[in-house]
Amino acid sequence: MKEELLQIEKKASDEIETIRDLSELEQFRIAYLGKKSVVASSMKQLKALPPEERPEAGKLANRVKNRLQKLLDEARNRLESGKTLDDSLLDVTLPGREPARGTLHPITQVLKEICRIFVRMGYSVLTGPEVELDYYNFEALNFPKDHPARDMQDTLYVSDKVVLRTHTSPMQVRVMESQPPPVSVIVPGKVYRRDSDVSHTPMFHQVEGLLVDKGVTLGDLKGSLTSFVHQMFGKDTSLRFRPSFFPFTEPSAEVDIRCVICKGKGCRTCSNTGWLEILGSGMVDPEVYRFVGYDPEIYSGFAFGLGIERIAMLKYGIDDIQLFFKNDIRFLRQF
Ligand SMILES: [Zn+2]
Repeated sequence: MKEELLQIEKKASDEIETIRDLSELEQFRIAYLGKKSVVASSMKQLKALPPEERPEAGKLANRVKNRLQKLLDEARNRLESGKTLDDSLLDVTLPGREPARGTLHPITQVLKEICRIFVRMGYSVLTGPEVELDYYNFEALNFPKDHPARDMQDTLYVSDKVVLRTHTSPMQVRVMESQPPPVSVIVPGKVYRRDSDVSHTPMFHQVEGLLVDKGVTLGDLKGSLTSFVHQMFGKDTSLRFRPSFFPFTEPSAEVDIRCVICKGKGCRTCSNTGWLEILGSGMVDPEVYRFVGYDPEIYSGFAFGLGIERIAMLKYGIDDIQLFFKNDIRFLRQF
């Protein structure tokens, strides 16, 4: 009987740990401490024992009964105060976990900032087709067929006459075709080239700018782009205009800024020149006006095109363009 009582005690103290609500607790009470419980029947058996064994067995039976009653009371207190055993692991005073909020992609952020700067200068924003006619992408921009400058752009052809646009410049022609001067627009959008390494991706973003009116000079071009660079990279950023060539502008210039990494001392990013190219620009070539019916004797203007990824890389100090499109959340979360 002694053995039996000790086993009951052990079983009951294991079982009480698993009780999750008051109805389970009541079942426990009936099973262990009710009138027909195992403990009650043990008490009754006491009488059948030899007299000399009764006191010790009685003592043990009472001790087990009291122990079970104590477990029962503790469990009831715990359940009635709304706590379960697992709750002891839950600290309700800890701050909540904030749901992760999405942010705009760094390219979108930079694109929007560039647009904001030019809109403040009075430009309006337009978009154009990404699948473009060869005519708009090349021919009307003064790239005749077999012109060597076509080789500068690794074109993705859809057919003989249709390409994925290699730059946003075709919109210069489309805009001038559709309205008389004055024109002042910027055109952000995706462009495509057959090219892929740490500084090139087959798809990237450009912003095209075009301003045409009476009496527009190279000075206006310099002033507008200088203002843009200062707003984008800070007032202390020096820049230079370096002669260049594009078939649809004459004269043409590329714009370099003082290297943002080494401040001009020379580093890997700027190939030790201290300068970084950020955009191409120039005065609209009179040949282009002939395609759209503007009179080059009356009107003049300038155009520029800048790569968004290039600007974003310089602004945030990123050395691999591919990072923008790998969708690695650890990279994107930083912006
Ligand atoms: Zn540098």
